[in-house]
Amino acid sequence: LEILRTRAELQAALRGDRAAGKRIALVPTMGYLHEGHLALVDSAKQHADLVVMSIYVNPLQFGPSEDLARYPRDLDRDVAMAGPRGVDYVFAPDDHEMYGDLETAVTVHAPKLADRMCGHFRPGHFEGVLTVVAKLFNIVRPDVAVFGQKDFQQAMLIRRMVRDLSFDMDIVVTPIVREADGLAMSSRNIYLSSEERTAALALSQSLRAAQEQYREGERNVHWLITSVRSMLQSAQGVSMQYAEIVDPQNLEAPAIANDDSVIAVAAFVGKTRLIDNVILGK
Ligand code: AMP
Repeated sequence: LEILRTRAELQAALRGDRAAGKRIALVPTMGYLHEGHLALVDSAKQHADLVVMSIYVNPLQFGPSEDLARYPRDLDRDVAMAGPRGVDYVFAPDDHEMYGDLETAVTVHAPKLADRMCGHFRPGHFEGVLTVVAKLFNIVRPDVAVFGQKDFQQAMLIRRMVRDLSFDMDIVVTPIVREADGLAMSSRNIYLSSEERTAALALSQSLRAAQEQYREGERNVHWLITSVRSMLQSAQGVSMQYAEIVDPQNLEAPAIANDDSVIAVAAFVGKTRLIDNVILGK
């Protein structure tokens, strides 16, 4: 495993591999790795000959009152986890390498899809995400990039960016990796106290309950979402931001629930904002 800090180093490292016709996968992350990230690496290895993982906490996607300063960072730990799992190159640029001295004047914006759900509560978040992902795509020029279903709206927006802006690459989205008790893995779980960790189970439990109702034949979107909302709203220590049932193609509410419908939730547990979602038919 090689750690590369600059675009020039990365491009020099990849030159030979590209010339040899190797298929290159990119796994973008903000580091502080867990099994969810490593599952993306497993998937990347199935789709490519070589895996580049980027580790970069992107300031552009954090709001002024969000957790940019305290977001967990530990590159040595990440490298120790990524190497044995088969990552070939870690690209870990600093802010200057990514953005230089000038304020970014050109960004990628997707108002129709990015200003709702998580984007409604985190103004500018997806503009920051799409902009850094577009930059990473141009820096790495991967054949395939792998994202997690955990960040469902993000994955959907990236697919649309690749299609709408004609990036010549494939996007793979892999299932959510959970702790044994159902909590979706997240670097932010480290913020949770033990009581908060217990309270946080309300997210996955409310989604699983709705999926169970769907499996038993419930197709009424109002009824399904009301069940999720009431479970979240009655959970101690949980402050719901939103719970929505959407069509993953356009983020609109479906007329009736179907196998592809996604129920997505966001909630604060203490000071920690958590998200989770489920695809009803999966
Ligand atoms: P992050 O480091 O949180 O920005 O996440 C980097 C990538 O890992 C994104 O594509 C996430 O969707 C994905 N990811 C994060 N947590 C999980 C999880 N529990 N299961 C699957 N993918 C995940």
